[in-house]
Amino acid sequence: MSHLLAIDQGTTSSRAIVYDASFRPVASAQKEFRQFFPSPGLVEHDALEIWNSVVETSREALAKAGVDASALAGIGITNQRETIIVWDRATGQPIHPAIVWQDRRTAEFLASLNEAGPLIREKTGLLLDPYFSASKLRWILNRVPGALQRAGCGELAAGTVDSWLIYKLTGGKRHITDPTNACRTMLFNLHSGAWDEELCGLFGIPVAVLPEIVATSGDLGTTDAGILGAAVPIRSAVGDQQGALFGQLCDQPGMIKCTYGTGCFLLAFTGTAPVPSRHRLLTTVAWRIAGEPLQYALEGSVFMGGAAIQWLRDGLGIIATAPEVNELAASVPDSGGVVLVPAFTGLGAPYWDSNARGTLLGMTRGTTRAHIARATLEGIACQVADVVTAMRKDSGFPISTLRVDGGACASDLLMQTQADLLGCDVERPANIESTARGAALLAGLAAGLWQKTGDPAFAIERRFAPQWSGAVRSSKLQIWSRAVERATQWESNT
Ligand code: ADP
Repeated sequence: MSHLLAIDQGTTSSRAIVYDASFRPVASAQKEFRQFFPSPGLVEHDALEIWNSVVETSREALAKAGVDASALAGIGITNQRETIIVWDRATGQPIHPAIVWQDRRTAEFLASLNEAGPLIREKTGLLLDPYFSASKLRWILNRVPGALQRAGCGELAAGTVDSWLIYKLTGGKRHITDPTNACRTMLFNLHSGAWDEELCGLFGIPVAVLPEIVATSGDLGTTDAGILGAAVPIRSAVGDQQGALFGQLCDQPGMIKCTYGTGCFLLAFTGTAPVPSRHRLLTTVAWRIAGEPLQYALEGSVFMGGAAIQWLRDGLGIIATAPEVNELAASVPDSGGVVLVPAFTGLGAPYWDSNARGTLLGMTRGTTRAHIARATLEGIACQVADVVTAMRKDSGFPISTLRVDGGACASDLLMQTQADLLGCDVERPANIESTARGAALLAGLAAGLWQKTGDPAFAIERRFAPQWSGAVRSSKLQIWSRAVERATQWESNT
């Protein structure tokens, strides 16, 4: 009983990773699945295809590792958040394709709820946006004939991807979810830790259709023996961003993780009280370990992170591969006064300006592509710094450390710039697969493989210490905020 299986069910692919008892990855498997775009703004998945991809990758990873399912101490699940599935409890068949978090079909309905915005924000910590599950669930229940009535009398089950996978894994025995997933539905009351009847009423959702809320790490059921060849205890379920926060061992107030992928995704651990945001961040659950209170976090996302580097490659063609940005940017001592605000698709937290557009400022006759490359890395780091500043102001905690993961954290120059701009250490772990690692650690905790006070082989590969003086830092951030002003509300000004 010395291995763990982490299932990482993402937006475009499912992965399974087998970990040994020291949380070292032993083998993994990955499978992409189809994305459906029925019309502009709509994004759907086939929930059964997701399920099949999870079974296949789990079997493949176990086979590659040479580990029998009977030797597993547990399974940990981490998943794309907010995506909603509704299925028939009797047959286990979905009644509609999964509606994915990116789907915007419910924007109009949510606009009609504007007056309830402050109430929703106070109860759920979320901003009124189609991103979250409640309006999507309402859409399915109202669109599929008879669904609302069948939901009310308990014939249908609804849930986020964790809930769906656990239902299937347990052969339909458990219909549960964890608070990190529940808190993204817009139906979960952050303060009570339970479904909120008033919000369910507002969205017209019968509570009977919702899963039972259990712990993030604990006893979440046992798999049907036919699926992996033995009955395996499910020990954790955690939303992907919270999985990364736990995987980075950010469990003290003031610790932040940032994932530098296509966008940048930040979570700041804040402890046992939910911190309301005055700077347009989201308040969210960090996790709940069985027998312990809920832990909370503040969340903020930047839309264009590594994608800005892809634009240098694909849009401008000034680099051939993403890693080339580093050499090019390092060939000049600074950006030569050039500032890029990568608001290509608007600005995320803390601005939330969908009319902002990408802005390249401060060019002179001496400007070269190297300055633009450098300004791009700085633009990514400045956006992250803005979210961290909002986190610091909201929480009142000094920021002690930023722990990083995601593809673009491979850039030493980006990480050094980030440390310089924040004035705090940036730590890059040896294993940057934080999300799956978080699910494995949470499962391992429930299985008794480690104690939270112990050291589960977490190692920092490199620590970037800030080198700029306070004066340089504030002058850089001042120039940045002038540039952001020029980028905001551009679309409506034209
Ligand atoms: P996602 O999960 O969102 O697809 P990844 O975590 O795989 O993203 O990260 C991919 C991003 O990282 C790309 O946008 C790419 O531009 C950037 N990237 C990858 N390698 C490097 C590198 N060595 N230096 C800088 N950026 C990089």
